[in-house]
Amino acid sequence: SIPLSFFAGLGGASREGVLVKGSNYLETLANTKCVVFDKTGTLTQGVFGVSDVHHCPIERKRLLEFAALAESASPHPISKSLRLAYGKPIDRARVADVREIGGEGVTAVVDGLPVAAGNVKLMERLGIPCIRCRSAGSIVHMAVSGEYAGHIVISDMIKPNAKEAVRRLKAVGVKKTVMLTGDRRLAAEQTARELGVDEFHAELLPADKVAKVEELLACQPIGAKLAFVGDGLNDAPVLSRADIGIAMGAMGSDAAIEAADVVLMDDDPLKIAKAIQIARKCLGIVR
Ligand code: ADP
Ligand code: MG
Repeated sequence: SIPLSFFAGLGGASREGVLVKGSNYLETLANTKCVVFDKTGTLTQGVFGVSDVHHCPIERKRLLEFAALAESASPHPISKSLRLAYGKPIDRARVADVREIGGEGVTAVVDGLPVAAGNVKLMERLGIPCIRCRSAGSIVHMAVSGEYAGHIVISDMIKPNAKEAVRRLKAVGVKKTVMLTGDRRLAAEQTARELGVDEFHAELLPADKVAKVEELLACQPIGAKLAFVGDGLNDAPVLSRADIGIAMGAMGSDAAIEAADVVLMDDDPLKIAKAIQIARKCLGIVR
């Protein structure tokens, strides 16, 4: 249920799949000099393949089942990937007490056993020692009944257009591109290097992303605007805080779409530079 009624149909823009909430946002878009991206689901595919399962006390299939069940209620791209890899229908009656912790993971009771699925931060908070691993990709650490149970490696793929999207932003006069992510430094660094963004910050909690955007806003030159592009539930506060919030519409959460000023209907990052160009054209600015 995308609340599309919030968005004005700005002729040319909406034909390009760029929905702008009101014509007052065109000027901000036209003057965007800094673009800040969320990584997962924005610059990367969002639903990705499970590339490896490292198990300790329990068998591989069972570990993936615990993960898929614990994550069965979450719209997070990692959860979708785990459900996809599990591949079987999920009986929600086996799952209770689900708690999703933004930037960390989920806890739930599966088949009567407490299960945690998430990153090192989550495991540390639960007091569960876990194996730090050097493999590329996002890692979902698992704990069952308070014991470490192994980890699942998922490879998040860069969107085919993401690199060109970053290049085009530079071509339309954006001075600085920044990638923010809650993912591990190792995974973030690889993506940032491949995309050629100017700056990246990893291992951020949702509140850290807001603080980082505030820092970046404080050092913008007068008249220069900052855009944040994201898709997730946790991105709503950052989308509101930026001068202009751009949400991915097809994969994005309703909360992100509601908080955004601009929605990209087809989740194509190339449309960010396009939106800036359309805004300038609408305002009669030729640059
Ligand atoms: P991003 O900043 O790249 O969009 P998030 O802030 O959504 O990512 O999540 C940051 C990190 O928190 C993920 O890389 C993952 O380690 C962990 N995480 C968040 N949600 C989940 C979940 N539902 N299941 C497992 N891990 C999660
Ligand atoms: Mg995200």
